[in-house]
Amino acid sequence: MVQRLVFRRRLSYNTKSNRRHIVRTPGGKLVYRYLKKPKKIPRCGQCKDKLRGILPARPQERSRLCRRKKTVKRAYGGVLCHKCVKEKIVRAFLIEEQKIVVKVLKAQQAVTRAKK
Ligand SMILES: [Zn+2]
Repeated sequence: MVQRLVFRRRLSYNTKSNRRHIVRTPGGKLVYRYLKKPKKIPRCGQCKDKLRGILPARPQERSRLCRRKKTVKRAYGGVLCHKCVKEKIVRAFLIEEQKIVVKVLKAQQAVTRAKK
């Protein structure tokens, strides 16, 4: 006996949200089981690398998760990866250092001019 598989929902197009596979029920019937869209791990905003320590989830699901599962406890945790944060910190530090160097040089020049 050949069983005809029918959609269990109204949507009849082969779209991303209408993906399904066939399962056999305990009663021996073949039915469609609808699949959810794949969960994704958030990516770094700068280098697009996958973020570690964050639970993969669908957007709606993510809104229901607790904070611990969505971020890591670091500046820019859950937004940027550790490498990009490190780079940002080093860059900011070097810029500040550069400012100090300029200031010191100006002060030295002022002193030498005053002597002359
Ligand atoms: Zn990154």
